[in-house]
Amino acid sequence: MWEKIKNLVLDMIFPIPDLPLGLTVNNTLFCAVCRARLAENKKICHRQAPYLLGAAVNYNEAAIRQMIWQLKYRGRTGIAFLLARLLRDYLQKLNLNLKNYLIVPVPLSKERLRERGYNQAALIAKIVAEDLKMEFAENILTRIRHASPQVGAKDWTERKKNVAGCFVCPKPIKGQNILLVDDVSTSGATLNEAAKTLKAAGAKKIIGLVVAKAN
Ligand SMILES: [Zn+2]
Repeated sequence: MWEKIKNLVLDMIFPIPDLPLGLTVNNTLFCAVCRARLAENKKICHRQAPYLLGAAVNYNEAAIRQMIWQLKYRGRTGIAFLLARLLRDYLQKLNLNLKNYLIVPVPLSKERLRERGYNQAALIAKIVAEDLKMEFAENILTRIRHASPQVGAKDWTERKKNVAGCFVCPKPIKGQNILLVDDVSTSGATLNEAAKTLKAAGAKKIIGLVVAKAN
């Protein structure tokens, strides 16, 4: 209750900014492994990667880092609308055929969800799904635990080990294509693990779609 009032007051004092002008929205998908831009959005290098990476902007944009932080740690859930708009602009530029795709947010564990009160990835994903009239399938993937904070993990192998086995698919997925949505991808270890889990459950094509990627 108090938290809600506090956020309401904060929203009045610091209104949610409009999208910063001059933000460069990307226009290709990326290789999930080496992050090369993929011409015509096709896998050309690391073909073994379980997904293609889609990132609207780069995480080094200060305005984006600020917005994501406010959304995740300051309860400013209205920011999800702005970030969803960025994703929509990006998807429009990509011009992909998303007809047979489901939108699935990267889940939080029950404990983390209780702590934060909402899953920021799900907030963003739901708005995108509604706008694009796509099916929002939140329960396809669940998270059974949270890795120890990625900050401490030094290299890729360690980050990968951190998230290994933290997702499950409660039911088999019958050849569905999936747009897997998260707010940020830093090392890519989380998206990689989630995509691997979805593939093992029967998913066909997977695009890991994030608002911002580091590097
Ligand atoms: Zn590559």
